[in-house]
Amino acid sequence: MFVKTIDFSHYSSIKIGPKVDVMIIELGDKIPTNSFLVGGANNLLISPTPPPLIMLSKDFDYCKIDGDFIEIGASTPTGKILSFTRKNNIAGFEFVAKLPGMLGGMLAMNAGVKSYEIFSLLHSIKIDNRWIEAKSIPHGYRFAKLNGVATSARFPLKYGYDDSLRKELLKLRDNQPKEPSAGSAFKNPRGAYAGALIEAVGLKGYQIGDMAWSEKHANFLVNLGDGRYEEAIELINLAKIRVFDSFGIKLEEEIKIVTNRDQF
Ligand SMILES: Cc1cc2nc3c(=O)[nH]c(=O)nc-3n(C[C@H](O)[C@H](O)[C@H](O)COP(=O)(O)OP(=O)(O)OC[C@H]3O[C@@H](n4cnc5c(N)ncnc54)[C@H](O)[C@@H]3O)c2cc1C
Repeated sequence: MFVKTIDFSHYSSIKIGPKVDVMIIELGDKIPTNSFLVGGANNLLISPTPPPLIMLSKDFDYCKIDGDFIEIGASTPTGKILSFTRKNNIAGFEFVAKLPGMLGGMLAMNAGVKSYEIFSLLHSIKIDNRWIEAKSIPHGYRFAKLNGVATSARFPLKYGYDDSLRKELLKLRDNQPKEPSAGSAFKNPRGAYAGALIEAVGLKGYQIGDMAWSEKHANFLVNLGDGRYEEAIELINLAKIRVFDSFGIKLEEEIKIVTNRDQF
């Protein structure tokens, strides 16, 4: 275990957050329970006063074939997972192309694209040194209840990498804004699209300070330069209130807001 100072206004995808000391967990370390685990910080909005933060070290950054399984460490970036599976002609992971993050973040978010999501490939996750089968972990759309820190996961090996599927799914990213963001701010409510609802209440392109609901895709909260945490929170609250008032729909954040009020 060692301490590293990380400036989250550079490290996080939305380019917001303080410069703080983070405890880096190495193989064999006991993982502290009273801390918030950060992966690639592609789905996070970190407040100026976060709780104690931890991250997994490079010890957990690997992909290997083990019998009938592929085993992947939780701090493996999605780009590395894609190259490994492409090189070894392994099927199923094509959808992780340009889905920014690490395996641990994907597991905790049940990240995916359209009908493709990480839990549909998963066999088991190693949490607190125990292998737990996917079927006994509650999960759903952009949600999984891991109840601990995932250090690696196993997937049944299936051959047949499909590059045309990767290209087809990449096209869906054409409408994503280029400015820094944390991906979709809200989950799509059942039977509706969060972006369409935000647009319908007149917030597409709406700006507070240097933060805005994107002109390109209204469900992306974008940082236009020097955006601040408080501006992001104000925009999130405004969208929730307006959408509820107009449609009676409660928007639920997909983005994780990391404050020192978090419970562990
Ligand atoms: C431009 C852009 C496009 C995106 N497109 C998509 C998309 O198409 N589909 C999609 O699903 N998401 C998308 N996202 C969101 C993001 O990429 C995913 O949620 C990703 O899985 C986050 O991974 P991360 O490593 O960055 O996790 P973080 O953002 O660091 O963390 C996310 C959550 O996972 C938890 N976590 C992280 N690691 C672990 C671990 N080892 N064990 C337990 N919990 C852990 C954290 O505590 C936190 O609650 C996009 C984001 C951006 C910026």
